[in-house]
This record gives sequence, C-alpha cells and structure tokens, in this order.
Amino acid sequence: MQKILNQYFAEYKTMSEVAHNAVIEIAHREGIEMNSIIVATSFCFDELNHQASKMNLPAPQGTFIMGGLAGYPFVGEIGLTAFSDHVPDGGAALFIVGPHIGFSRSGEIGKIKRVGQHRHTNTCGALMMVQDHLLSTSIHQIDPADYSMFQPEFLALRLLPRVDEIRNADVPILKTTQFVYDEIEKEILALIQLHPTLLNKFPVYILGGIVINTDENLPNYFSQKTFQKIVFT
Ligand SMILES: [Zn+2]
Repeated sequence: MQKILNQYFAEYKTMSEVAHNAVIEIAHREGIEMNSIIVATSFCFDELNHQASKMNLPAPQGTFIMGGLAGYPFVGEIGLTAFSDHVPDGGAALFIVGPHIGFSRSGEIGKIKRVGQHRHTNTCGALMMVQDHLLSTSIHQIDPADYSMFQPEFLALRLLPRVDEIRNADVPILKTTQFVYDEIEKEILALIQLHPTLLNKFPVYILGGIVINTDENLPNYFSQKTFQKIVFT
C-alpha cells in the first residue's frame, strides 16, 4: 500500500495519527486539556469517512459534521453558528476537512474494495459523477426547485474554471480531488473568518488535507495540506 501511495503523495500518515498530533499540539499551545477540544469535520458523507475504526479521531463526544458531497461544507453559516454553541467552556475547536479518494491494494486510483463486496467501487463515487458531468457538457445551472441536484451542480460550477486542467490530467480524479480540496479550504476559512463570534470566544484551528481510503479493513490515511490557527484577517 505504502509503495503505491508514495508515488502520489509527498507526505501522508494514518488519519488517526495526524488528528491526534493536531489535538496534542493545540492542547499544548493553548494550555488546555485534550478533552476540551471539540472536533468538527467536513468530509464527504461516504461511510468510509465516518467509520470509527478507520478514522479513530480524538473526539470522544463525537464529531460535528459540516460536510456534504465530496466534503464541501454545505451546512454553511447556519451549521457553523449551531456548532459555535457546542465548544466546551475554556476549550477550543478543531476543524478537520478535506475530500477523499480511494487507492486499492492493486494500485487503482479512485477505487477501493469495500467490506462485504467482491468488486471495486468508485471512491469518491459522488465526485466521480460530478467530474463526468463536468467533462461531458458545458451547460451548468442550478435549478432552485431541484434540491437533489443542488450539491453536484454547485460543485461542478466551482470546478468549471479548472475543467481543461482536469481533462488533460494524467489521473483526472486525483486532479479533481485536489481542486475540491482548494475549494473546501477556501470556503471553510472564509466561513470561520466571517463568523461574528466564534473566533472571539475560542481558539479555532483547521487541519486540512486529502483523506485516502484503502481496501476493506485497512486504515484511512491523510495527506496533510494545512494545520493552522485561524485568525481574523
Ligand atoms: Zn464521497
């Protein structure tokens, strides 16, 4: 597995190790207990990103889920406002965010073998469909009456300026995943920086990267792209 991942990621560790290191670092920097740090995630809804044994996040009280399709923080300002009421007294908040991509043992990118299945499935399957849509047509519009297509159309619109780079990439789904990461990081930083009270009350950190799903019971990995305290700009 490592041999395959080394070809595509300069740096990665298990999701669990990266997340625990982040919480230890925040507790040290802020002089607080680890258990007073609440974790919010913005990951895709795929069960692989929420399976305790594969993720093993330092969140004994559970995680607040910000993410919709592909990990984009579709809960928006309303969700963030609700979350801001949940931070333990004197504690801190950590947002762990990013899209996900599968790497099978046999080296297929964007596919994995799930427990209980004999075939390989697309991962992120939803983002793969968004990418197919993006590459197949130039018509993109959001119909406010169609809630079911809102998230995919929205993401396709966000990716539209990068469509040629995706089309010409060696591995299009890897390129698309990287571009979605950029969108997620930009959006979550803007959401938090523009939030009226969260940063005034608590230290807030972001740990961003790409979640790498692997076959069956292997752990998820995380290729970290940012870890920072969010400050007013
Ligand atoms: Zn997904």
